[in-house]
Amino acid sequence: MDKIRFRFAPSPTGFLHIGSLRTVLFNYLAAKKMGGKLILRIEDTDQKRKVAGAVDSLIKILDWLDITFDEGPHIGGDFGPYIQSERKEIYNKYIKKLIEKGEVYYCFCTPERLEEMRKEQAAKKMPPRYDRKCRDLSLEEIEERIKKGEKFVIRQKMPLEGEVIVKDELRGEIKFKASELEDHVLIKSDGMPTYQFANVVDDHLMQISHVVRGEEWIPSLPKNVLLYKAFDWESPKFYHMPLTLNKEGGKLSKRHNDVAVEDYKKQGYLPEALINFSVLLGWHPKDDREIFSREELVKEFKLEDIGTSPAIFDIEKLNYLNGYYIRHKDLDELTRLCLPYLEKAGFIKRDNKEKIINQFNSKEISFDFIKKVVRIEQERMKKLSEISQLSEFFFNDNFDYEAGLLVWKKMERGDVAPRLQKVYELLDKIPEENWTNDSIEDALVSYIQATEGRVGEYLWPMRVALSGRKASPPPFDIAEILGKKETLKRIERAIKKIS
Ligand code: GLU
Repeated sequence: MDKIRFRFAPSPTGFLHIGSLRTVLFNYLAAKKMGGKLILRIEDTDQKRKVAGAVDSLIKILDWLDITFDEGPHIGGDFGPYIQSERKEIYNKYIKKLIEKGEVYYCFCTPERLEEMRKEQAAKKMPPRYDRKCRDLSLEEIEERIKKGEKFVIRQKMPLEGEVIVKDELRGEIKFKASELEDHVLIKSDGMPTYQFANVVDDHLMQISHVVRGEEWIPSLPKNVLLYKAFDWESPKFYHMPLTLNKEGGKLSKRHNDVAVEDYKKQGYLPEALINFSVLLGWHPKDDREIFSREELVKEFKLEDIGTSPAIFDIEKLNYLNGYYIRHKDLDELTRLCLPYLEKAGFIKRDNKEKIINQFNSKEISFDFIKKVVRIEQERMKKLSEISQLSEFFFNDNFDYEAGLLVWKKMERGDVAPRLQKVYELLDKIPEENWTNDSIEDALVSYIQATEGRVGEYLWPMRVALSGRKASPPPFDIAEILGKKETLKRIERAIKKIS
């Protein structure tokens, strides 16, 4: 195989699983690194599991992640169709070849008989395996039963004894006893191929040179390899990525975590963070670095460096990486990304002309105002969705808080109003055109120092007066953004509250 061709072959279940993000990413990076091609193929032979619109939403989310393909159902290519349900005739043609070669057989066993067989096997504590009843039917019998309209499936003849030795590029040789292998179904009774058959036929016809997929597919490897042999085809190279477990060592499941990439997007995870996080699930750079740009990944990523021990899905790590990428995001872009969250929280409304209305007071606010808000919360945000919780007091002046919150821990309650009164006077003296966090800080701190006062007695009540909270960005920054009028109004309100 001289060409380098990778593929991502998801089943369209309606969303991109966070585990599949790693699969597509490793294939993408390896293809880019090796100067190969990446193909998207939709494996939808299990029509029962098909979800309407799934392919479109899959392509959309991959687009959002900036993972692009060289061939696929959305862009075409020389090896299409790229949707398995549109390739039925191809599978028919190839199963005929195997029938002629005697590598497969018709099986007329009814679902009832198979059920009966399984029950007996369970009672005898035997593994559930097809008992090969139809493996040696005569040609005449087969023809007659087909003529009579009996339903059938087509099964692959697996070796009856010995071992099947297969190779995984990361693990080396893996041996399977023939007794562990079942004469599995290649064509179902509705004429559709199974995953096992369609996957191999397509990987061959699409000239796939490298298969990179999850460890859960290792049990399929002997079946795949035997099929390639049955056809006299060369197998691609196989790489099985380690399992991804949750922190407790269990499987990732809907119950424990959100598994759809779409859900992470909704919560405000950035694609850069999701990509950086996913690549570290099973791939370890030699120098233990954690932050990688896309270009760096393409440069550093090597299939051979994929590990085999389970990867741990640690949401704290994802949050850390997301925080990192939020802090490094261009402020204009970050602000634009935050707007939908502020809108959803009901703080703002945007009309078509990009006019932004504060929903609390119906007044127009500027993009610049929101940009300032985002700038001071940028350091603290781990997810975009947190912007609303962090910043409500900038939009809503009608927040409530306990008067007691204004009291700094080492001060008397009775001292709060006079301290706030002083803050009011000092700020009132600053001219509008000089209203910056630096001049506000200057005015307050130099007064406190000159009078040998305690900083907390002034700044704590000021912070609470402006934000209603005990944790917020520095009060000078809040004051600058709120503007002089609004700042003084809020301080005045606090004085009344505590007097
Ligand atoms: N369609 C399979 C899946 O859903 C692909 C497995 C493979 O890569 O061979 O993961």
